[in-house]
Amino acid sequence: MSQALQLREKLAERVRQVEERIGAACARAGRSRADVTLVAVTKSTTAEIASLLPGLGQLDLGESRPQELWRKAALVPNVRWHMIGHLQRNKIDKTLPLLHFFHSVDSWRLLQALDLECASVERDSLPICLELNMSREAQKHGLAPEDMNELPARLAELKHVQVRGLMTMAAFSEDPEESRAAFRELRELRDRLRAELPPPHVLEHLSMGMTNDFEVAIEEGSTLIRLGSILFEGLGEPEA
Ligand SMILES: *Cc1c(COP(=O)(O)O)cnc(C)c1O
Repeated sequence: MSQALQLREKLAERVRQVEERIGAACARAGRSRADVTLVAVTKSTTAEIASLLPGLGQLDLGESRPQELWRKAALVPNVRWHMIGHLQRNKIDKTLPLLHFFHSVDSWRLLQALDLECASVERDSLPICLELNMSREAQKHGLAPEDMNELPARLAELKHVQVRGLMTMAAFSEDPEESRAAFRELRELRDRLRAELPPPHVLEHLSMGMTNDFEVAIEEGSTLIRLGSILFEGLGEPEA
């Protein structure tokens, strides 16, 4: 078997294994598999490997750094690109046209700037999640839960951006159970807010769960899991 085929087989096996664990977690939680979207986070792998994903039925891809998103989006077309990391406002114009979904809107200023950019390029809508810093780690980006008091007023200013949910990253731990409280808190916050908001801000999404804790996240209601290492670790090193 050629090296390229071997690589494809290995990746297909990873996707199968992950799919099995997602299915089992959905079953435990009494949820439908269709309610959870797997976003393959390609930041630690090559564009060559990322470009094998659509052929394996994996069409949602995510990047956390804008420059890397620009580069990979040019090399891997015809997929749905998700921005999952911090975006400086001066990089909005180059990033927005590539995006299907923005998970990590981490300030009111960014939210407003995205809406203005949509207006200026005549983009009708942009679905996003607001990133919450539930673990309150100083080095992490994100809004605080108490900032959500302002949400109705902030939403009233928006013409294009649609707030579709909340996103968080739990504090890293070897033990996935350590993430459960933060995930549950995010879901409860979402449930409270959801009751109050007008459409199109329906808040149906919870973007939470990474390699280390995605099963717990699914049990706690995640609709968007963002997986990198479990899919790509050891398959090929990033291009320098
Ligand atoms: C890197 C990254 C992921 C994927 O992390 P893994 O632990 O490798 O699955 C998910 N979300 C964000 C925001 C990331 O930066």
